[in-house]
Amino acid sequence: MNAPINIRVHKERRILELQWSESEVAELPFRTVRQNCRCAVCVDELTGRQILDPETVPIDLGLLEISLAGNYALRIRWSDNHDSGLFTWRHLAAISDALAGRTRP
Ligand SMILES: [Zn+2]
Repeated sequence: MNAPINIRVHKERRILELQWSESEVAELPFRTVRQNCRCAVCVDELTGRQILDPETVPIDLGLLEISLAGNYALRIRWSDNHDSGLFTWRHLAAISDALAGRTRP
């Protein structure tokens, strides 16, 4: 999975915009990304069961800081003080696809 060619953060609209190709742009709501966090706090590593109750993520969740983790993922610090999740390109593409009602082969 290649990195997006462009990444934009729209703080007012609470949207993380990922441009995957010249023709493919995904707009991911902050809250949706946060709800899909797969870190050890949010998901049980052994069972894969989600520990995080997605409904507890604030509607008005903000994004405080975003940085690259190597060349394979984004690290995001959210306004609810959660920053332990790494969002790989593959994971972000899966979230994009789910929002678009698409499955990727
Ligand atoms: Zn997490």
